Amino acid sequence: MHELHVLNPATEEPVATVAAATPRDVDAAVARAAKAQEAWAALAPGDRARQLRRFAAAVDQHLEELALLEVREAGHPIGNARWEAGNARDLLDYAAGGVERLNGRQIPVPGGLNVTFHEPLGVVAVIAPWNFPMPIAAWGTAPALAAGNAVLLKPAETTPLTALRLAELALEAGLPEGLFQVLPGEGPVAGNALVEHPGVAKVVFTGSTAVGKRIMAKCADQVKRVTLELGGKSPNIVFADADLERAAAAAPGAFLDNTGQDCCARTRILVQRGAYDRFLELLEPAVKAFTVGDPADPATRMGPLISAAQRERVRSYVREDAPAAIRGTAPAGKGFWYPATVLAPDSPDDPAAVEEIFGPVAVVLPFEDEADAVRLANATRYGLSGSLWTRDVGRAIRVSRAVAAGNLSVNSHSSVRYWTPFGGFGESGLGRELGPGALTAFTETKNVFISTEESQ
Ligand code: NAD
Repeated sequence: MHELHVLNPATEEPVATVAAATPRDVDAAVARAAKAQEAWAALAPGDRARQLRRFAAAVDQHLEELALLEVREAGHPIGNARWEAGNARDLLDYAAGGVERLNGRQIPVPGGLNVTFHEPLGVVAVIAPWNFPMPIAAWGTAPALAAGNAVLLKPAETTPLTALRLAELALEAGLPEGLFQVLPGEGPVAGNALVEHPGVAKVVFTGSTAVGKRIMAKCADQVKRVTLELGGKSPNIVFADADLERAAAAAPGAFLDNTGQDCCARTRILVQRGAYDRFLELLEPAVKAFTVGDPADPATRMGPLISAAQRERVRSYVREDAPAAIRGTAPAGKGFWYPATVLAPDSPDDPAAVEEIFGPVAVVLPFEDEADAVRLANATRYGLSGSLWTRDVGRAIRVSRAVAAGNLSVNSHSSVRYWTPFGGFGESGLGRELGPGALTAFTETKNVFISTEESQ
């Protein structure tokens, strides 16, 4: 039997060993889920909503426990981990609020009555990465359940523990057996079995673009529904007219939060030539002040990377002789630590400026004018998010419209709110999660025409 060995990334100590699901386990889980889903979809909307609110309340009651589990399995600073557990709770609450509002439409037509219905899809697979185990599990799971589906959640190999605890809390809160199941396992085994299973109606995948492409191709065989949330290489555009102090104070968090293991990380810092030197002067102390260390300490802002493999990947992008604008420090000894690093490559085509590194590494590049900024920002196969800093309102609107990305922030780096839509352009993904359309993404729209002609 395959097992998953969960390590604490800050200490490299074993945390738990978890059995890995096999394709047979997936078969059995799909059958149980399909049975539970029928009864769930038949419930009155108010009853479904009430059960989801109880689940949200159970998460709320165990918020600290879930956050501490996230600290141990993912190495996230405790402050971030509390936000993550709270985000899972909020998603469940938000989705519960949508159940009674999942209404079809009546569309006037001659000779009859035309109405639409949002029918649940059936069994939905949510395949999650390790970087935000709880929020991303909840982004797929909560609206899918609310719309009347069953959910099979496959967490990442390195971070199955919070997902397993969420499944226990769902049962304790009274959700029907089989409706929400967690299948820890390996991507190419359990994940692939879910993707290929004819009983799974939709796959929500969050992870790397390479795996996302393979999953999309497999889903095509069955015209299976798919939502993809993939990688990013997001720009942080600083115009010379911006409040440079504010922009420099915010820039470290935008690429160092979660140790840079964030699909929205603003890892391409583009600075207008006239402000370039001054901005770097301000950025350096801000990067160095970003506290790195014990994730359990509330003062810590940056923890370790998730694994030794991830640290190797990050290292491979940072040559010893790379022109570095700023290098921070990291704890020595055990743990998968890596220092905050800002590179100043000679060219925007340098791999460090092009590829998603998924670590605490950004590049800084100068630009000349607005058109140049937009050109550089869009010179990527990704398009998840981006920020721009300016005091010119017209420019803020022009550039926000011109940058090809799903989530833009002006004079801010904030891009995730559970009640606003989230998703990527280009190779950053397909479809949107969160926001007002979250539930309908887990339904098929059915149109029904009822003739009002009198029978002869
Ligand atoms: P990954 O693609 O390696 O794995 C993600 C999940 O897919 C894991 O659960 C894994 O087990 C599973 N998987 C792997 N191979 C599979 C296969 N053949 N079939 C089915 N499932 C398979 O990604 P990762 O390294 O865990 O996460 C990092 C990536 O996730 C980064 O590229 C990041 O940008 C992306 N990400 C995107 C978003 C977003 O919302 N756009 C959010 C978070 C992370």
